[in-house]
Amino acid sequence: MAASTSGRPVRVRIAPSPTGDPHVGTAYIALFNYVFAKQQGGKFILRIEDTDQTRARGDSEQMIYDALRWVGLSWDEGPDIGGPHAPYRQSERGAIYAAHAQMLIDSGAAYRCFCTTERLAKLRVQQQAEKLTLGYDRHCRGLDPKEGAARAAAGEVHVVRLATPLEGSVVVKDRLRGDVSIDVGQVDDQVLLKSDGMPTYHLANVVDDHLMEITHVIRAEEWISSTPKHVLLYRAFGWEEPAWYHMPLLRNADKSKISKRKNPVSINYYRDAGVLPHALLNFLGLMGWSFGDDREKFTLEEMIAAFSWDRISLGGPVFNLDKLTWLNEKYIHDLSYDALADAVIDWRLNKGYLTKVLPLVRERIKRLDELIPAIEYFFSGDLDLASRPDVIAELTKLSATWPIAQMATDLRTLVEQLEAKDGWAHKTIEEVARAWSEAIGQKAKVTFPVLRLLVTGRKASPPLFETIEVLGKEIARRRLRHGADLLPTLVK
Ligand code: GLU
Repeated sequence: MAASTSGRPVRVRIAPSPTGDPHVGTAYIALFNYVFAKQQGGKFILRIEDTDQTRARGDSEQMIYDALRWVGLSWDEGPDIGGPHAPYRQSERGAIYAAHAQMLIDSGAAYRCFCTTERLAKLRVQQQAEKLTLGYDRHCRGLDPKEGAARAAAGEVHVVRLATPLEGSVVVKDRLRGDVSIDVGQVDDQVLLKSDGMPTYHLANVVDDHLMEITHVIRAEEWISSTPKHVLLYRAFGWEEPAWYHMPLLRNADKSKISKRKNPVSINYYRDAGVLPHALLNFLGLMGWSFGDDREKFTLEEMIAAFSWDRISLGGPVFNLDKLTWLNEKYIHDLSYDALADAVIDWRLNKGYLTKVLPLVRERIKRLDELIPAIEYFFSGDLDLASRPDVIAELTKLSATWPIAQMATDLRTLVEQLEAKDGWAHKTIEEVARAWSEAIGQKAKVTFPVLRLLVTGRKASPPLFETIEVLGKEIARRRLRHGADLLPTLVK
């Protein structure tokens, strides 16, 4: 049994930043934290890391809660349910970080740095020209702390930096990868508090993990390069380190880090595309871990019982959509008809969704038996445009004014612009689409029909932007992206 470092009760966490749609990587890391916590009789904590206000997105935090609950992972402490270490949202913990930065200044482990951005930019240019390692030259490190305090009190703009030891090494004891020793010469005097008084990820993350009594940090491999900095911070504070586990990153089929250009990465996409939550969780459990006896279908409870770190494999697990669909099929086939009916109702065949769709189609039907054919595309995923000569003919016509390759590029730009927006209301979607049309120099009477064709597979549909709103951002964006990828093969 993987006990905590010093026999403390096991406490683990996920610490997502609310910067967009809820990512499958968050569910993946949450799953391994959850499974380990449950197996050890420990606690699983959710902390929101929202100190980077420039990247924070309004609706993102709620979507993280909803998505994790949808897959079936619940937490014992978190911003929405509280707990003994509240608040669990970093933007509400500013005073804690400032006090901890001050503790390090007082002990001489950190210092105030008044270097201007101009000086740092110049330094960088000089280091580049001389082919030196880039980094801060510790210009302010020798400053008398009293002088530093006086200048800060007088309101002079500054940051707080860690005084990284000048000699020796720092060892990251990764439980999955073994010890990695790094020469401290390679570690910069990292910024702990920014000039606006906000903490950096490093300071906030370490202070919170300590105060929240986190015993095991189980996170994605992409953070491993930050870990030496974190170890140095634990040392500077004189705190006990957690046990480190860096899980292999999810990858696209070509082994690059999973990205929305190659795979949908939002948990909400999988929900809207009719993947069952248990199948998704099971699939994520197969990423980087094996059950032990070639078994691929298992429940969360079975995973908790069978889990062990020695069956983690570090070679990048491929997020393979076909495999997910294969597993989902097995789940569907194993459901009773009654449970399947419930799953379909939960998905989209429910009054909530129908009351959004019906206002768009009521005027288009004369009898109820015309309803299903009229609304079929509100209940499907990717559209099979290749088998639709009418769609292809229309796209071909429109490509006379908007060449296909350009159309594909422009559509991807639109998807990115839509992704960058909070919420999904038809007014906003329309505003973005109009501004985009103007920016790419195409008339709406050319671009909007293309959007309609790709999103509905039809020449005529209810009002376009209302339709896109009701379809939901996941399905609509996927159809646009997928459509952009297909265009060159559809129109030759
Ligand atoms: N806020 C980081 C993230 O977005 C947390 C990384 C960690 O677990 O330390 O994933």
